[in-house]
Amino acid sequence: MANGNSKTAFFIEIKGLVQGIGFRPFVYRLALEKGITGWVRNSLTGVEIHAEGLSDSLHSFVQEISLKAPVAAIIESINPQVVVPDGYTDFTIQHSTQEVDQITLVSPDIAVCPDCLNDIKQQHHRLQYPFVNCTNCGPRFSIIRSLPYDRVNTTMDVFTMCPSCVAEYSDIRDRRFYAQPVACNDCGPTYQLVMPGETETQFKLILEKTIKLIEEGKVVALKGIGGFHLMCDALNPSAVETLRRNKLREKKPFAVMFRDVDVLKKYAIVTREEEALLTSWRRPVVILPAIKNLAPGVSSGFPTIGAMLPYTPFHHLFFERTSLDAIVLTSGNLSDEPIVISNEEALRLFSSWCGGVLVYNREIYNRNDDSVMMVINGKERIIRRSRGYAPLPVRVGADVEGIVAAGAELVNCFAAGRKNYVFLSQHIGDLKNFETYVFYRESLDRFLRLFRVRPRLIAADLHPDYLSTRYALQTGLPLIQVQHHHAHIASCMAENSEQGPVIGVAFDGTGLGDDGTIWGGEFMVCDFTGYRRITHLPYIALPGGDQVTHEPWRTALSMVLQVTEDEDFIFRLPFLNKIKPDTVHLVKTAVEKRINAPFSSGAGRWFDAVAALTGICTETGFHAEAPMRLEAAIERGKAFTYPFVYQEHRIDLKEAVQAMIYDSLVPGNAAHIATGFHNMLVSLIEKVVSEISEETGIRTVALSGGSFQNRYLSEQVENRLSQAGFKVLFHRNVPCNDGGLALGQIMIAASQPGNQ
Ligand code: ZN
Ligand code: ZN
Ligand code: FE
Repeated sequence: MANGNSKTAFFIEIKGLVQGIGFRPFVYRLALEKGITGWVRNSLTGVEIHAEGLSDSLHSFVQEISLKAPVAAIIESINPQVVVPDGYTDFTIQHSTQEVDQITLVSPDIAVCPDCLNDIKQQHHRLQYPFVNCTNCGPRFSIIRSLPYDRVNTTMDVFTMCPSCVAEYSDIRDRRFYAQPVACNDCGPTYQLVMPGETETQFKLILEKTIKLIEEGKVVALKGIGGFHLMCDALNPSAVETLRRNKLREKKPFAVMFRDVDVLKKYAIVTREEEALLTSWRRPVVILPAIKNLAPGVSSGFPTIGAMLPYTPFHHLFFERTSLDAIVLTSGNLSDEPIVISNEEALRLFSSWCGGVLVYNREIYNRNDDSVMMVINGKERIIRRSRGYAPLPVRVGADVEGIVAAGAELVNCFAAGRKNYVFLSQHIGDLKNFETYVFYRESLDRFLRLFRVRPRLIAADLHPDYLSTRYALQTGLPLIQVQHHHAHIASCMAENSEQGPVIGVAFDGTGLGDDGTIWGGEFMVCDFTGYRRITHLPYIALPGGDQVTHEPWRTALSMVLQVTEDEDFIFRLPFLNKIKPDTVHLVKTAVEKRINAPFSSGAGRWFDAVAALTGICTETGFHAEAPMRLEAAIERGKAFTYPFVYQEHRIDLKEAVQAMIYDSLVPGNAAHIATGFHNMLVSLIEKVVSEISEETGIRTVALSGGSFQNRYLSEQVENRLSQAGFKVLFHRNVPCNDGGLALGQIMIAASQPGNQ
């Protein structure tokens, strides 16, 4: 080993996704700082560096490449080898020869960095400039039209840089070297606050007037990074009510932005892991247990808060000048439509009822909602993958070049494969909504162009009526249809680099089975090439089909009918109090005669039925409301459970159903039933998995499907199975709900004979 003072050389190979995100200039600046000479260039698998210098500097150079790399870089390995020095006197960025076939990353949007927040207090051309950014922060995916990532290929192309910005952009030692959206007060985008009969264009006054509107209890529509938000004082009940009323039937909890972590901690319990997520450059919404009330309308009666911290310069400037603790910051859209991105549409939809509409003159090209996260058992779990995460890929253990996955229908997200990377789209939404479907088609086209995917195969769900499946058919590409729950488990396996076979537990609301019935409480043994359905939750008839998702009392009645047909008794059940006897009778007949009452083994339907039986939620206002309310009712720490039978691959819940019905006759028993039902499911999963394991010898379990967003279920099942010695796989960076389905679809398509 050379001593610290003698000159030596390293050839450093960095593998991973490090191109197109300012990585080479970063290496260059670091080399200058450390007095290192040589060069850096892109390679087929990442970046290569030849570095010469004193041994100590070289070692700290290598170390700091990992520590200080641009936030969106994914370094998979960094491998320095000692080589002979060539006597370089400077450090250069070399142009590589074979850039054509490389996979280039598109960075997600990055929260404004502390250096930039400092700059707007000091730099003469950026005082209070609300669009400040640098190589380490600012908009990316939301403004990129195509690659290479140059200003002309972004929506910043209409702004001509002033001489000061040009100087910074051109100086490799500057933090803004090659920062495509670089801008200042003299040359960049500007805000306008449009109010009834008045438009404010001076930023200082815009800020003052916005704050005044919010403090007076008005709602303001604010153009953010990936779309518009609607904001109001989170502690003002009438402001929150105005927002809810005008967002059209909006019943879901609203996300809330807090001034800082300390203030947030007055309202919610924040663990170390949750704090790390909240303060990360990705700045997602994190779902936390509430300890102090905001305005009653914010969380729709749930004991949780969807919290986030300021991430644009405007958010920071706003909180610096007001004493408000927290503002509601919910997607600017009407009920199920995609988040609004154009100024014209925002003005059309929001000016009549908002105190002001705050727009700016830079176009949002890629719509990009806030991401939503949870921490369960100390590990992060993504619920909605968008701003800050999309469009970073997931690395998988198969060649997926040219395979496209159309995704699901309700919580859609599609995917496209390049080499062994799966690029998952941002959250798209419910395709049954026409505007969302338009967004889907448009984003899919843009994605394929952006990542230069040449589609050769398309994977879609087995369900012929999903709009995503129909779209896949229309493309004319060879089509592979994938069973929904197999795709869920495959997604979980892929995320965990697991080849299988595994015991898959797929619990969700609904998905078409290969036998024509609706599945969703599935136990299967599978790998990427196929699956065997071992058992499932008992079927339950769904009177009225899709209607049951809005009226879970129907499913509850159907569940009751599995154990009794005694009408007098049924009419005495408290949960049917508010339903007209004629309607009850009609539904009962539908179940008995099997008229428009398809069978489903969906776990979500069982949650619905039990939630309605307890009276907690007989009718719903949004997707998965009933299961969420049932979970919220649990008495934690209670071991009470209901009985079940598992014999010869059949699950029998009749005894449990009987017991729950009797318990529901006693007022005030909802928490008791909720607890017992959850605990029963946990024991049931443990029991069934253990038996399948004994039969097959498989010791790895993959948990997937939207039901695992249930914190209690996930915690308990993961802990119990781990304690029983199983290797437990769960989702972290890909949603367990249908938003993660496309990843599984791609993996299964890639494993079909002839496609490997
Ligand atoms: Zn910055
Ligand atoms: Zn400028
Ligand atoms: Fe699903």
